[in-house]
Amino acid sequence: IEPMKEQNCIKKPNYSPINNKNLLGNKRNCIDQERKALPVYHCRQRILKELEGNDTLLIMGETGSGKTTQIPQFLLQAGYANSGIIGITQPRRVAAITIAKRVAQELASNVGDTVGYTVRFEDTTTDRTRIRYLTDGILLREAIADRLLRRYAVIMLDEAHERTVNADLLFGIVKEAQQERRKHKLTKLKLVITSATMDIDHFGKYFNVKGMYLEGRTHPVRVLHAKEPQEDYIHAALVTLFDIHRHEPINHDVLIFLTGQEEIEALAQQIRQLARINNSGPSDVRVFTLYAQLAQSKQLECFLPVPANTRKIVLATNIAETSITIPGIRCVIDCGYVKEKSFNASSGLDLLKTVRISQAQAWQRSGRAGRDAPGLCYRIYTKGNMEKFRLAAQPEILRANLTATVLQLLALGIDCASFDFIDKPPAEGVESAYKALEQLGAIKAGSITTTGRWMAQFPLDPRYAKLLLAAPTFGCMEEMLSLVAALSSDNVFIGHADKSELAALAHAKFQSKHGDHLTLLNVFATFQKTEKPKIWCHDNFLNIRNLNYARNVRNQLAEISARLNLALNSCGDNMDAVKKCLLTGLFDNIALLQKEGHYLTLSGRVKAKIHPSSVLHGKYKPQCILFTELVQTEHNFLRQVTEISIDWIEEIVPSIKCILK
Ligand code: ADP
Ligand code: MG
Repeated sequence: IEPMKEQNCIKKPNYSPINNKNLLGNKRNCIDQERKALPVYHCRQRILKELEGNDTLLIMGETGSGKTTQIPQFLLQAGYANSGIIGITQPRRVAAITIAKRVAQELASNVGDTVGYTVRFEDTTTDRTRIRYLTDGILLREAIADRLLRRYAVIMLDEAHERTVNADLLFGIVKEAQQERRKHKLTKLKLVITSATMDIDHFGKYFNVKGMYLEGRTHPVRVLHAKEPQEDYIHAALVTLFDIHRHEPINHDVLIFLTGQEEIEALAQQIRQLARINNSGPSDVRVFTLYAQLAQSKQLECFLPVPANTRKIVLATNIAETSITIPGIRCVIDCGYVKEKSFNASSGLDLLKTVRISQAQAWQRSGRAGRDAPGLCYRIYTKGNMEKFRLAAQPEILRANLTATVLQLLALGIDCASFDFIDKPPAEGVESAYKALEQLGAIKAGSITTTGRWMAQFPLDPRYAKLLLAAPTFGCMEEMLSLVAALSSDNVFIGHADKSELAALAHAKFQSKHGDHLTLLNVFATFQKTEKPKIWCHDNFLNIRNLNYARNVRNQLAEISARLNLALNSCGDNMDAVKKCLLTGLFDNIALLQKEGHYLTLSGRVKAKIHPSSVLHGKYKPQCILFTELVQTEHNFLRQVTEISIDWIEEIVPSIKCILK
């Protein structure tokens, strides 16, 4: 990597630095002191006064200023939770969980008492809970049961700038609930919308309110760009990190932005190894990782202070951009990429793509270095390159697969055409969603069917809900519950860098000749039967947390299925039943082998190869496969594949017969 050149500076200092590492003594005092130093603390009276006079409040403030953790506590103290609870939505599970834990700690109580969180498949709230952190998806599901959201006195739609599809829907739904409650003379529903420093005008117009700005607290950040474009940003990040480690004071912690779990874990391992080899002085490094799928206890580790003479290094996804603030960070390394899910309406396929961040995200990332004191940000991309980045990320609703969204709206009794969207989704996206729902049997002539209503009961993508609804007919409900649960969890296989051969050997035991879905089913079924899961997982290089999660998900899916009176049958060794059933939901994910040796997807006609992680990779190539996901990096890969018979397609999904010919 070329030495980087200083290019820019952002913002002047407003406050004196607080060094968390120096705050010794009583932990409580320390937390109180920290809280009082937050910019939002000085705006407490103003916020409460504004909310008294207005039903909706729009607050914009620098990341780390205390919006998410403090505002709900102000509202609690002001008595807002007397007539209902205070609900705060988060776009991500990790944020909902870590923040609830932090706030519980600040209130000297436990999660589940005054403060709790609810995320998909996990609810820690009780009757005593007054402040509830929840994902936006959960609040949306609650709206299906009660459009007026009567249990809430205040709803705070946090991280509004992220513009997830769910948040966009909630803007309209909460706005309507406010109006309806006013109309029926019920207790008022107060709404607080909070956002990082982004375009607030758009929200202002939509809600017809003026925004309120919190005074920021950022210190100057020296920004340095790569001189030359970098081919391998991971390597560049590694070199830059050790450069920092050699030249910057040891108490300057480092935050590295990367795109996802695999890359983060691989680099973490590399850093730990290199640090071990190079460690000649008294100084040491501690490496932490932070991404959505990480074990909860691990997610909190990066907030803990490290011993003196140690540098904290945090490797994170865009989750550390605005949702979570880690104290002590003085240096940021930004790879300039983010993983984004996008949907191609013409091909009908979902894609997980690594894309360039927006300029707004680049500034958010560099700002993370200046929270406690002046900082440094190394960007692994040239200045010229950055000028070509999009100004701001596109709202998800403009690029996402809308199948689940449209179904949810229909279950709410809302027609997409009349819904008051903050930004209208593209017509072809909506059309494609209606078509998919029709194929899944969720709607007929534009209206929701019983199947559709049942599908909406499951907290799953409609295609996966369909698998469960179809399973009793194929006689494989037990198997499908396990498989869908395992698919909802993250990777259960651990591929140890040092022990990859041993890991591969251990994993080979579970391999099914049919492909990855049935291999996964083997793993989960064996896990369910083991008496000593901890040892068993360790010996077999399997991730016990993800398997436990899958078990929990399975129980909840089984509960919903029982409520719907779905027959709980099993197909024993007849694996064709499971494979056929998979087709009922994943019929858009079929690919056929071509003469040239690659695969072509049936919908969209995308050329792709089987992902190297598949048990079918490098073996004989089946004529016809079904896959879970199309991943696009420099090549297109089909992840999680299973061999199917081409004749089944006509039998199970006759509507796509014509494409085959
Ligand atoms: P905002 O929502 O405005 O970005 P937050 O309310 O999330 O800010 O965070 C306020 C401050 O609380 C942060 O700057 C950070 O120092 C501290 N904080 C938040 N969560 C934790 C945690 N889990 N552990 C330690 N400190 C935390
Ligand atoms: Mg926040």
